[in-house]
Amino acid sequence: MHEVSLIQALFDAADRAIEPHPSAAVRVLKVRVGELAGVQGELLRTAFELCRIERGYGDAELVLVDEGARWRCRDCGTELPADAVRRCALCGGEGRLSAGGELVLDRVELDVVEE
Ligand SMILES: [Zn+2]
Repeated sequence: MHEVSLIQALFDAADRAIEPHPSAAVRVLKVRVGELAGVQGELLRTAFELCRIERGYGDAELVLVDEGARWRCRDCGTELPADAVRRCALCGGEGRLSAGGELVLDRVELDVVEE
């Protein structure tokens, strides 16, 4: 399942983000799911449940936030309307996906006990 490797990569990113805290302190993993990322939220949740304990994220909750696709002109940076994403109406430059094309670890919330 494609989603398992995605979720493992998210755990890797979270591990790095929370260092030196242990993964057991994580309460929330917030992930932006791009409209064009080719990821199904339900499969991602299933993969999360499969790997959560093994990765030490026993108390973590996965929060998914949908992110719509956005396109910009790669020459002048103008945001392009959804019905004309290939070419910029201002300068003729090519359109480039600027958001919504990937899975992004947005935020990690920890419950840290002060000692
Ligand atoms: Zn342009």
